[in-house]
Amino acid sequence: MRKHHKALLNWYDLKGRDLPWRAKGNQKTNPYHVWLSEIMLQQTTVVTVIPYFLSFIKKWPTVQALAQASLDDILHAWQGLGYYTRARNLYLCAKEIVNDYNSQFPCSSSELIKLPGIGPYTSKAIAAIAFNEQVLPIDGNIARILARLYAISTPLPEGMISIQNAAFEFTPELRPGDFAQAMMDLGASLCTSRSPVCLECPFRLICKAYAVGTQAGLPVKSKKPIRPKKYAVAYILKREDGAILLRKRPENGLLGGMMEIPTSKWSTTKLKMNDVPKNAPIAIDWESSSIEIKHSFTHFDLEIMIYSGNISMEKSQALEGFWVFPHQIGNYALPTLFKKIIEPSLKLIETH
Ligand code: SF4
Repeated sequence: MRKHHKALLNWYDLKGRDLPWRAKGNQKTNPYHVWLSEIMLQQTTVVTVIPYFLSFIKKWPTVQALAQASLDDILHAWQGLGYYTRARNLYLCAKEIVNDYNSQFPCSSSELIKLPGIGPYTSKAIAAIAFNEQVLPIDGNIARILARLYAISTPLPEGMISIQNAAFEFTPELRPGDFAQAMMDLGASLCTSRSPVCLECPFRLICKAYAVGTQAGLPVKSKKPIRPKKYAVAYILKREDGAILLRKRPENGLLGGMMEIPTSKWSTTKLKMNDVPKNAPIAIDWESSSIEIKHSFTHFDLEIMIYSGNISMEKSQALEGFWVFPHQIGNYALPTLFKKIIEPSLKLIETH
């Protein structure tokens, strides 16, 4: 093993983060824990993931237990983590592991990548951490470290080719799983994007960017394209007994199968006042609340205006959906967007 690999692993043994999915001392790494944490960590921070991870392994301690759960229960436990496709794929993947792999995770990145919800990064992360395959998963943190170590100045995403080549050359044969986790920890603690703490870094003697003082400017990123915007109206419909209308979204598409507050179509232009009733679930007097909710999805930003209306018990029977009392809303798997809408809306309808 080369000196700098050893230096990083020594640093990791002393300063590595204590995370609940990591094996401690002589414990064996649990592939189920590694897989579950890696899926949860996609687009989500470690701090947010920890309580979800602990609650999942308490409820479903093994992949078999997870495969036997209902999708609704999983979605409910996932509530608040966002990107719900991950939860659906988690369920599909657990079933596939149990049915097609005799409940054992495949141990190579080339097999893991065939499973639902496991892409190039996650397959390498699981293979390295759980099975010590000599691969290095490249997320934003690790790309940044490699760009600095090798002083790669080609702007991303083009620069990724050089970064991948560097990763291939840089990954050691011994302890590649610990090495990958050490790189993750280094990126999260010392080699941060704004102010790298080079004097404490185990790589300071070999880091090309540090040698010439260009580390803070690497990696170079191409200018971001402007994010598209979409607009919609949300309809808070209150029945005379206080229940409000929720619906289930279509199975396919964004937030598929999740519960929602009825909305107009999400469109690239704002709905005109006259069109608000035409897009509503029922023709009644709709009142503007002047409340506007903003929410960002991966590929676009959404702005939603909230309208509210009241309906009799009799008329409500004509509508499809679920009439839910405010205190019961927590029992439903509502995506963050709709939670953002409901919170101010409940205060609003209390006053009507
Ligand atoms: S020396 Fe500085 S820039 Fe280079 S890897 Fe370490 S923290 Fe990052």
